[in-house]
Amino acid sequence: MNEVLQLGSEYFSGQFGGAPDGLWSAPGRVNLIGEHTDYNGGFAFPIAIDKRTTVAARARDDRLLRVTSSSFPGVVEVSLDHLDPDTLTGWAAYPLGVAWATSRAAAGGASGRAASRISGVDLALTSDVPAGAGLSSSAAVECAVALALNDLWELGLDRQELARIGQLAENRVVGAPTGIMDQSASLLGATDHGILLDCQSLLTETVALGFAGAGVGLLVIDTRTSHSHADSGYASRRRSCEDGARRLGVGSLRALGPVDLPRAAAQLDGQTFRRVRHIITENQRVLDTVAALRTSGAGAIGPFLNESHLSMRDDFEISTPELDLAVASAQELGAIGARMTGGGFGGAALALVRNDDAGTVAGGIARAFARAGYTAPHIFPVTASEGARREL
Ligand code: ADP
Ligand code: MG
Repeated sequence: MNEVLQLGSEYFSGQFGGAPDGLWSAPGRVNLIGEHTDYNGGFAFPIAIDKRTTVAARARDDRLLRVTSSSFPGVVEVSLDHLDPDTLTGWAAYPLGVAWATSRAAAGGASGRAASRISGVDLALTSDVPAGAGLSSSAAVECAVALALNDLWELGLDRQELARIGQLAENRVVGAPTGIMDQSASLLGATDHGILLDCQSLLTETVALGFAGAGVGLLVIDTRTSHSHADSGYASRRRSCEDGARRLGVGSLRALGPVDLPRAAAQLDGQTFRRVRHIITENQRVLDTVAALRTSGAGAIGPFLNESHLSMRDDFEISTPELDLAVASAQELGAIGARMTGGGFGGAALALVRNDDAGTVAGGIARAFARAGYTAPHIFPVTASEGARREL
């Protein structure tokens, strides 16, 4: 057993006594390109990263759910019969929200998914996914727990159903109006591959990145800043997109392409137009990135990353001075491309760098932050890794 699994298993035993029935893990994710496109039915291209949340779990012979996390004190307990999405709060809302959504999917599912197999479970979480850094530690928790419950309750749900369960937990229980990207990445990731998501059809495709062969890699620059208006900013961007789609007579912005931009400019107010333009051009950049990877290789995708950042900075207006500095510094220091990643208003930027340049780029960004008087960023490499899996 490797060290991480050993720790997860020991943490379970310390909290609940005895050994778990099994261990499951799911990674965080970083979005290579395609931001705020998921809830517009568009394209996104995230990767699962080499940082994971592990859940050690054991079925019980009663109806109690007990959940504990090495990141938070205490054990939270609730009966499956009193699992109410409106009353779950705090960190435990994520795993217990998944339990609620999974039991709901089981009850409503096709025959053979007997709700009678649903029993109480003890769940112990350990993780090295930093929370709130834009790497979707929440999806890592949700997907690890969903996979564990799917196995322990013998539900036979497929990974796309599990992704929807995680999303439902996040939307309904946690109250975050997020799309399907994070859970899809965490469940479907593969080594040195990205996951092309079509958030309208929900079709997914794993696409070889070829980063390893090209001698390039990704640096995450976590600015360690998050703005109090992040949630309201996300919701207001979402509303602008819905508003723009309605005024342009389409069900979602996905229905529009670059050819529709002149019409959008004529029909919309300036701000809504810029929001819409970000989504339309970002969808195109995702497709261009995937095409460039296939035809020309990793070295060719830099311009799309750089343009994506400008679009988020100027059209969608979700960047911050810290994110702009991280991106500009990375570009000046020779990165192939760089952009802010995640929902915006703080969080992390991403730089694609030649492996030989990684140290120079990281050091230069850290110095630029010090000169600007900003909080020292946390800079670390990530590699595209395998999605959620049963470990033991
Ligand atoms: P992100 O997903 O970008 O990291 P979120 O705010 O969506 O940020 O999710 C972070 C929250 O997810 C944490 O505040 C906590 O409630 C929950 N969470 C993340 N990791 C863990 C963990 N290992 N154990 C328990 N809860 C976790
Ligand atoms: Mg999250």
